[in-house]
Amino acid sequence: MKRVFTGFRPTGKQHLGNYLGTIQNCVALQDEYDCVYCVVDIHALTTLENTEGLQEDIYEMVLDWLAAGIDPEKCIIFVQSHVPEVMELHTFFSMVTPLSWLLRVPTFKEKVKMQPHNVNYGLVGYPVLMTADIALYKGEVVPVGEDQLPHLELAREIVRRFNSLFGFVFPEPQAKLTSAPMILGLDGVQKMSKSYNNQIDISAPPQEIGERVMTAVTDPARRYRSDPGHPEVCNVFRLHTIFTPARVDEIASECRTAGIGCVDCKKMLAQNISSALEPFREKRATLSSSPDYIIQVLTEGAKRAEAIAKETIREAKEKMGLLRHSDLKTIKSC
Ligand code: SF4
Repeated sequence: MKRVFTGFRPTGKQHLGNYLGTIQNCVALQDEYDCVYCVVDIHALTTLENTEGLQEDIYEMVLDWLAAGIDPEKCIIFVQSHVPEVMELHTFFSMVTPLSWLLRVPTFKEKVKMQPHNVNYGLVGYPVLMTADIALYKGEVVPVGEDQLPHLELAREIVRRFNSLFGFVFPEPQAKLTSAPMILGLDGVQKMSKSYNNQIDISAPPQEIGERVMTAVTDPARRYRSDPGHPEVCNVFRLHTIFTPARVDEIASECRTAGIGCVDCKKMLAQNISSALEPFREKRATLSSSPDYIIQVLTEGAKRAEAIAKETIREAKEKMGLLRHSDLKTIKSC
């Protein structure tokens, strides 16, 4: 099976956007590929002001993944910093990556605008570390959205350059375009994200789901209950297409004729989201009653990842001519 590598920033409890956009995709991939899923805590340091809460975010995120069906028997799940060889490979790659390639990356320019008080080296070197993440595990396939294709192309260029300078070690990772829908947040404008506080956490209890859905922005032209609505511009309706698929035509028609009010429409959506997530909540409750299990999964994952990483670093160093004296002696005696 080809190896998939994908990394996720530790963002704590996962929301519907993460679940429908990424987690479900990862669950499906683990049956088709040899999957390596990494919590990229070192990447998080490029934008974090402090590390308070980092461990809790890692724990909550991994708990959500496991409860949602990511299976440590089928894939490797680990934390990036637990396998420090990635820093070594990052340094090697940084020597073959022209600075001009990194300075032209659009996300670097965006980050400079977003945090002008903290333009650290890690921000500009981010794509090099990302390439090291993939290459260390000889990732052949990387699931990406269209917007991430330029990053993957840069990773391919770095790998290609290393291979051409020192000899083949790393496969060029191929993009696997994900078809996951982009989930808008409760504001109906921005992508669902904690940063915008427009999310519904998948671990939220039914009451909280109901309260959050009630805050959702609907068709702005529908000011009174008797006004006909326009479901095509309403994010609540978009969510109905996912959580109430059997009744979307009926809801659209009732909305257009003012046969249903937004409050009732939202109540129905909240109920359906809550029911869809019930098995997830049950599994999460079971897993969270034994926190040692999460630690055990991450420890075991790091061990398996480390075994691959050590072998890759050995190969890379040999190709680069970075040998220890003991290795030299062995070679001379051959
Ligand atoms: S009735 Fe439903 S679909 Fe129509 S505008 Fe209100 S919330 Fe949106």
